[in-house]
Amino acid sequence: MQHPENDDQYKGLKVNKGVASMPTINPYLRKRLQRREYSADEYVNGILDGNITILSQAVTLVESSLPAHHALAQEIIEKCLPHAGKSMRIGITGVPGAGKSTSIDTFGMHLLGQGRKLAVLAIDPSSERSKGSILGDKTRMEELSRQKNAFIRPSPSAGSLGGVARKTRETIILCEAAGFDTIFVETVGVGQSETAVHSMVDFFLLIQLAGTGDELQGIKRGIMEMADGIIINKADGDNIDKAKLAASQYKNALHLFPPAASGWTPQVLTYSGYYNIGIKKIWDMVDEYMRFTRDNNYFFLKRNEQAKYWMYESINESLRNAFYQNEAVQATIKDVEQQVLNDQVSSFVAAQRMMDTFFKDLRK
Ligand code: GDP
Repeated sequence: MQHPENDDQYKGLKVNKGVASMPTINPYLRKRLQRREYSADEYVNGILDGNITILSQAVTLVESSLPAHHALAQEIIEKCLPHAGKSMRIGITGVPGAGKSTSIDTFGMHLLGQGRKLAVLAIDPSSERSKGSILGDKTRMEELSRQKNAFIRPSPSAGSLGGVARKTRETIILCEAAGFDTIFVETVGVGQSETAVHSMVDFFLLIQLAGTGDELQGIKRGIMEMADGIIINKADGDNIDKAKLAASQYKNALHLFPPAASGWTPQVLTYSGYYNIGIKKIWDMVDEYMRFTRDNNYFFLKRNEQAKYWMYESINESLRNAFYQNEAVQATIKDVEQQVLNDQVSSFVAAQRMMDTFFKDLRK
């Protein structure tokens, strides 16, 4: 019987004629894959043009652990460097629940309203959250993520804190070359990541809450000493008085610290990220800090110090990687570790033995 499909008038689904052999890769996908292989100059031109797709792809190269990507990424960074450095870099930290995402959303919209372009990056080496990553779900910054002048990038997830931090620092350079004049580096306020963030930003903003008993914690961990501004969130509704009280406690606590090298006195402000209260004051403070430290030259001094710091950090990171990835080291280190555990050799002798193994292998 004649199938209705074969009738010219048939309007339903038609079955295509079969092909002898299927392509192993979807031809459209192949095209897309081919398109991804830019040269370093193409990446750089795309970035300088402010092309966000190319910027994202370049950041992916920076984050990649493949040696070929590494070389290309370094070339791109090198070429972007002369176009970077002109932004204001702000570190933002606070414990989970302090309101970082809510605040960044509100701060971001405020800054975009001033005609700024904002990149939001993160350092979150704690792997618990890095699968979806701290900033992975952009719903955390709902409004900001819809804006064309905002670029939100989750934390690079793999690797040591040093490695993750280096990648974020390199991403800052690419974002600046792409025309972002304000960079946020967010970190979740636990562990050592604050120090890493502090070493790559101009201004360090600490988000605190009133009445959580965290106040002294912050002091203990030395985070308050790093802060150029302490801002107490959720100063809304019934919480306003508590927030004000906390602010005066923080101000008192700050007197305990020696004056900062910048000559700047850290300020304490209250605000509500959710209800959009007190936001302008915060950014006036940051602007004032930028003026103040540019006038007294501290801004440039600090950036120089940071550049030096990152040189040594990169050396340390490369040495560490070279050591642990060395085959001779990998072949023996577990045995030597066991000897230490069995009290057969001291930790120091064992370490020396491993270093000797490494250097001997290099000389081969
Ligand atoms: P993060 O973990 O530091 O990123 O914190 P979130 O931004 O996710 O906020 C944690 C919770 O606090 C959420 O339920 C927010 O809605 C709430 N929150 C954040 N900012 C404010 C604020 O200014 N006022 C009030 N009342 N709640 C807030």
